[in-house]
Amino acid sequence: MTPVNNVRPAAPIVAGNRVELQLLTTLKCNLRCSYCSLGVGEVLGSQKRASYSAAQLEQFVTTHLSGKETYFTLYGGEPTLNTRFALEVMRRFPTCRFNLQTNGTLLDRVPDEFLSRLSNIMISVDGGEGVTDGFRGKGIYRKVLDNVAKIRPKVAGSLTARVTWWSGDTTLGDFDELARRFDYVYFQFAQDEAAHPPQSVSRKKRVLTQLVERFFAGDALYPIVPVMGTVRNKVVPARINEISAGLTQCRVSSNLLNVMPDGKIFPCPDMLYARELLQGDVVENWVKSSPLQPHPDMPCGDCEAHHFCRGNCMKNLHLAYVIKNEAWRKHVTEPVCELIRFLGAEVDRHRPAKWFAGAPLPVRRAITDAEVYEFCEVMP
Ligand code: SF4
Ligand code: SF4
Repeated sequence: MTPVNNVRPAAPIVAGNRVELQLLTTLKCNLRCSYCSLGVGEVLGSQKRASYSAAQLEQFVTTHLSGKETYFTLYGGEPTLNTRFALEVMRRFPTCRFNLQTNGTLLDRVPDEFLSRLSNIMISVDGGEGVTDGFRGKGIYRKVLDNVAKIRPKVAGSLTARVTWWSGDTTLGDFDELARRFDYVYFQFAQDEAAHPPQSVSRKKRVLTQLVERFFAGDALYPIVPVMGTVRNKVVPARINEISAGLTQCRVSSNLLNVMPDGKIFPCPDMLYARELLQGDVVENWVKSSPLQPHPDMPCGDCEAHHFCRGNCMKNLHLAYVIKNEAWRKHVTEPVCELIRFLGAEVDRHRPAKWFAGAPLPVRRAITDAEVYEFCEVMP
């Protein structure tokens, strides 16, 4: 139908019925991980704590997001350094769900009230003990696992290991150990020309083959989120449309708002330095739809993986095909896409629809409806 007076309705601010507010409650961190993305553009440490109030946040939500289910991820920097503000937000939004993204090292010190409100905790590691300590500092892996054991009785939500998968030295055994200690394991592929040479791709492929084999081997759920998500997307593809409007499953193009400590809003927490991506401001009480969208120069439309991938990481695609950073395309985006296509082909080899049809009902339910999909990127 032609719009009245040719005036088109404004694009909705967020697609769908849910919106995730990812609050960077501080940009301070107690670790110095060698690859931290907030190091780009001097973002890390630049804003010590949230300078807007929980009341201003409520005003923002009421003005722009009424009628949507709003849920929160507490992010940083290291958000456990600012639990005071997080608790104010939790009390201000008593019916909302909360997720925490943390390096895990301070979890033994945070208040019980804070822990008890969390639906999920994403805890960052980089693989096994040697690899994690190499990136994060000696003793960090053990400290994190000790903390997970300590807080588990106080947490009603799920505990998820978040593996930034840089290293070709990470093994199936490393993932197995994490799957024993956590409820879920999420991994995200990470590539870099200098520190992680091309042969790391072939070594990751070997582990992916083993992970997928292990996933399809038994009746119990092997809770590796990107494998679960790939199976879900292939067997029940409509789920992608429900959670991220058919767009990238980290939600940056559809229903994720990252709020900096000063209240400025950006679509991607890794691109807070890119002022052209400014999307809104909690203090000034405005927001628009995400500027980080698929672009005709991105190759996803012709890609065999698009039906389950949906554009994976928009940062990688944007830098490679919109900004046209050739080194990034060659050394980061293309190797990651190769790994995603490989993961999809490995899943296909195991005939996922037939497997799903014969899986016990609780496993099927976890594949289709696991809440953890709303708290991480789904695809690696
Ligand atoms: S694998 Fe790469 S090119 Fe293919 S759909 Fe995913 S992001 Fe796009
Ligand atoms: S997956 Fe990529 S685009 Fe999405 S939030 Fe992470 S860095 Fe940003």
